[in-house]
Amino acid sequence: MLIHLTRTISRQDRQELLRRVALLLPGARARSSAAGLTVTGFFPAKAADAVPLLENLPAVLNIELAVQELCPLATNAAARKSFSKPLDFSGGFIFIAGPCAVEGEASYLASAMALKAAGASALRAPLFKPRSSPYAFQGIGFAGLKIIARAKKISGLPLVTETTDPRQIARLAPVCDMLQIGARNMRNYELLKEAGRSGLPVLLKRAMRATLKEWLLSAEYLLKHGTRDLALCERGDSVFSADNTGLDFAIMRAAKKTTGLPVLADPSHSSRERTLAAALALKAAAAGADGLLIEASVDPRGARVDGRQTLTVEKFSKIVGAILCKKTK
Ligand code: PEP
Ligand code: MN
Repeated sequence: MLIHLTRTISRQDRQELLRRVALLLPGARARSSAAGLTVTGFFPAKAADAVPLLENLPAVLNIELAVQELCPLATNAAARKSFSKPLDFSGGFIFIAGPCAVEGEASYLASAMALKAAGASALRAPLFKPRSSPYAFQGIGFAGLKIIARAKKISGLPLVTETTDPRQIARLAPVCDMLQIGARNMRNYELLKEAGRSGLPVLLKRAMRATLKEWLLSAEYLLKHGTRDLALCERGDSVFSADNTGLDFAIMRAAKKTTGLPVLADPSHSSRERTLAAALALKAAAAGADGLLIEASVDPRGARVDGRQTLTVEKFSKIVGAILCKKTK
């Protein structure tokens, strides 16, 4: 923790600051440095509540916390076990593929089988869609549980399903293998707590324009509340228009380095167009992603949502081939 101090500081203010540090951060050691006061040796979970009280003091300009102090669980790779089956992130590059939304049984089952044959490792199985317009298709909801359960049975692939509301989780849990927290809900802290308590593996997407610290703090919520198997997913900063395409590979690599967690990339929502999505998928793999969350189906043209960015199964299969070929070279 680095406490930036005002240029001049009275002896009384300094003593008051040191007294509060000792009180709020038991066991901490404080030493003067060029930038102010460096504090070490405290229990990181104490810092979140200590900082506002320390910042109230007149001698303090502001306080900086390292990401390890903010997110002790998310940055502690050594304390983590690896993923267990059916989701295995240790066995090479991962492809979580499927349509933007589950729409109908026949098309979803056909996509599941074709994507499995093309090399998918898990299925996108979204039943609830967070849409910008309240009039737009919102997903088929729990009516789709039977469909995705069938797809899992016949394809043998695990299911990754977005949850948008804590009340959904208990009903999704018996069928879904991994909960997805979407970009819009990265800061939905009650949802993160409930997803954590479910004990299910979680895929946490970075919110549009979220910083590394914000993203990892959301990961910390999950881990604090019970998530054991966690993967992150970079999805770019695009909001509603197509003027901000692309993925932030720097933040993707920083997340991987800081946490040791698997970090996937979503080339679909950051591109909004399938040719661009295909190119971005290859770039993401080359940039160090551990896998892809990618929209692909047997019927992109018939999709009620995100059809233009959804890959055909043939194109998906080519991408799988190209990535695996490079990875095994
Ligand atoms: C999705 O992956 O289905 C999705 C809605 O993406 P995002 O949350 O990144 O917008
Ligand atoms: Mn989509």
